[in-house]
Order: sequence, then C-alpha cells, then structure tokens
Amino acid sequence: CGIVGYVGEEQAAPILLEGLSRLEYRGYDSAGIAVRNDKNDKISIVKAKGRLKILAEKTDNGHAVRGTCGIGHTRWATHGEPSENNAHPHCTEDKTVVLVHNGIIENYQELKEKLLKSGYTFYSQTDTEIAVKLVDYYYKKTGTPLEALTRAMLRIRGSYAFGIMFHDCPGKLYAARKDSPLIIGKSKKGCLIASDVPAILDKTRNVYYIGNLEVAELTKDEVHFYNIDREEIQKDMVEIKWDA
Ligand code: GLU
Repeated sequence: CGIVGYVGEEQAAPILLEGLSRLEYRGYDSAGIAVRNDKNDKISIVKAKGRLKILAEKTDNGHAVRGTCGIGHTRWATHGEPSENNAHPHCTEDKTVVLVHNGIIENYQELKEKLLKSGYTFYSQTDTEIAVKLVDYYYKKTGTPLEALTRAMLRIRGSYAFGIMFHDCPGKLYAARKDSPLIIGKSKKGCLIASDVPAILDKTRNVYYIGNLEVAELTKDEVHFYNIDREEIQKDMVEIKWDA
C-alpha cells in the first residue's frame, strides 16, 4: 500500500503513476488517482482493481487525466473486499473532499453511526470513507481545511497517512499522519507527498519528515506544517544521500 501526491508545474498523473510503481514492493490489490486543474472544474477520479498497469492503461499512462495537482494510492484492503468501488481515492458525493488513506480507522463503526445521524450515506465498505465524510462534516462546520482536518484527527482512533484535496482550494494539497509513514518532498517544479523515499527520488532529494498528529499544507512552491492545535511549526529540510 502506498500514497503519492504532487502539486506543481508538471502534469500530475504521470508522476503519480510512476511514484506508485516505485512503491509496488509494499504490496497492493487495487489503485487509483485523483487529479484536478487550477480552475473550479470537478476533481477527476480514476480507479482500478488489480495491477497498476490496468490503471495506467485506463488513463493512457496518465495523459488522459489533465491537471497539475493530484493524489494517488495503492490499496491493501483491510475493511471491504478489493474492488474498484472500495479502491481509493474516496470522496464526498459532490467531490468537495477527496482523500487517500493508508492505515486503519479503529473506531470507524462509532464514527459511522454519528455521521449516519447527520444524514451522510456511504457507497463503500471501507473505513476510509468514514474519514472523508468526517472531514467534510467538520469542513461544513468550520469552513477551513486545517480546522476540519485537525478536528477529524482528534476523533479518529487508529493509524493513518492521508493525502487530501478540497475542491475549494485549487493548487493545494494537504497531508496528515499518525502511525503510518508519510514524507514530504520539495523540488524546483513542485511539492510532493509519499509513503516512502523511493517514490520521489527521481524528482527530489529534499524531504521533510512529518510527525505524528501533524498536518502539512503544500502548494507548488511552499510547504507549511501545523500541529494538532493548528499552530504553525518550523521544520528543517533533510537531504537524502542514498540511492534507491
Ligand atoms: N483501511 C483502508 C482500506 O481498507 C486503507 C488500506 C490501506 O492502507 O491501503 O481501504
């Protein structure tokens, strides 16, 4: 299972597919990408059960999905069978929030009941869909991605690495983690997120390590980090010296 995200000057989809293929060693049963342009158009999501090759064929090696901002995922199913429907990215009905997740949300049943009472419906069997809708619930309440994410993080028990896009925020990617791996990369042509260094080594050797219960906000030129109290934190960039 793995996550890759990119926001920058280049087309995102080929970078996502290439990055995911470098995370294949982690194992997976399905894959998917979500890509957007700078305008207010809907976020495009393409998913496939099975090999990454199928996803690559479905998207003409990424060229059929245009946009310079996106997230990709390879899934190792924990909740819900391997299927296209259960594959990530997951989203709200109107695609205001689109998210990929590695890990397990332990209290998903309790959160699902809360969301059902608030009128949410569910199309998949995954624990991840609960996370998307919980973020959406707090986004509608607070109106800011950072507050929505930190509030959801405080309610979720378990492990997660998230890559998130909000429809209202073109040119922005969010990442958050607790007990699942995730790194942030910065290159001259954009910023990246990934489960592991090999996914982004051909783009950059400059990375930041995002800590437990921290959030990163990426644009094509900058990364900002926040703690769970939404205070900005400073991080040093680390240069990766080894070859993958
Ligand atoms: N628990 C999530 C699911 O079953 C994510 C699995 C993963 O880490 O790939 O969809």
